[in-house]
Amino acid sequence: MNKLRCAVIGVGHLGKFHAQKYAALDNVELIGVCDANPETAQKIAEDLGVTAYTDYQNLAQHCDAVSIVTPTRSHYDVCRFFLSAGVHVLVEKPITTTVAQAKELIALAKEHDCVLQVGHIERFNGVLMAARDEIQNPLFIQSQRLAPFNPRGADVNVIYDLMIHDIDIILNLVNAPVTSIEAYGAPVVTDSIDMATARLKFANGCVADLTASRVSHGPERTMQIFQPDSFLNIDFQSKSFSRASRANTEIFPGIPGIDRQEFTFENLDALQMEISAFIEAIRMKHKPVVTGEDGMRALETAVRISNAVTEQWVGRPEFETLRSKTQPQLEVSE
Ligand code: NAD
Repeated sequence: MNKLRCAVIGVGHLGKFHAQKYAALDNVELIGVCDANPETAQKIAEDLGVTAYTDYQNLAQHCDAVSIVTPTRSHYDVCRFFLSAGVHVLVEKPITTTVAQAKELIALAKEHDCVLQVGHIERFNGVLMAARDEIQNPLFIQSQRLAPFNPRGADVNVIYDLMIHDIDIILNLVNAPVTSIEAYGAPVVTDSIDMATARLKFANGCVADLTASRVSHGPERTMQIFQPDSFLNIDFQSKSFSRASRANTEIFPGIPGIDRQEFTFENLDALQMEISAFIEAIRMKHKPVVTGEDGMRALETAVRISNAVTEQWVGRPEFETLRSKTQPQLEVSE
């Protein structure tokens, strides 16, 4: 079987790990890495023994598939270039900065028969994969994704940076349209939303409360799922997962006991799984695990949450300057 020729565009903090994973795969040849910063490109290329590029436009004829790990604002242009050239794309999250751009990329991928996968990496977190079969009928979900401040990622608000991971997971678990959104948030360190909390209501009756903050003392990435007869607690950080469910025994007449179970599972490398799944989707010509449509749905929901937060600031003079800066950041443009 011919090796797929792959490259990584943008080898900064996250992109260098993408490059390492491609380099480690048997059925793939990492033919080069590209970064607008020549020193960054050279350093990673030397480490991996591949060619360094500074202009991604010189790469299309040499490769079958790329990871795009440049800052979010450039995703649309870079993706459009490669999809138009018939190159398969794994683009980091968020897919683009507007829903209209995401729609266009999805159509372009179809037109050129390309796989378009979006880097919602938590879908490949071993703990979620282990818990997935236990999640049949969620009635109420809550998620917390908290992190200490880090300037990397602060070019977009915390909803696009952190909460979007939980938005994608929850939309995938509930699999019903969102009927209403209520959200609150605050700028704390930057001029944008640094913490937010949102309540999503779904057409099937499920409700989800999501909280994300990038101004917390310590990291936390947890999700609780309540469904008839069971309660699941997932910790994405420590990769642990437990279930409490109604037992067949009674502790008092009419009051059931609770069965508690801690699950153990293989600690998988989520990025390696994500990239292997991308390669598999190309080889087997099937839908990727996280499609362009999934990326667009997560972005659209993130935009609606951001708008709901800034709507709360209307009429409050202390927020007006921030609102004018925050609002046009990413938007739904139909
Ligand atoms: P970064 O700033 O560390 O790296 C981005 C790199 O892209 C830089 O080295 C920059 O020089 C390069 N670059 C910029 N424009 C370019 C262009 N036109 N052509 C080639 N190279 C270009 O950023 P990062 O933290 O690695 O984030 C990159 C992307 O990954 C963002 O979209 C971010 O949202 C996403 N991300 C996703 C996760 C996740 O959990 N899935 C985590 C972190 C970042």
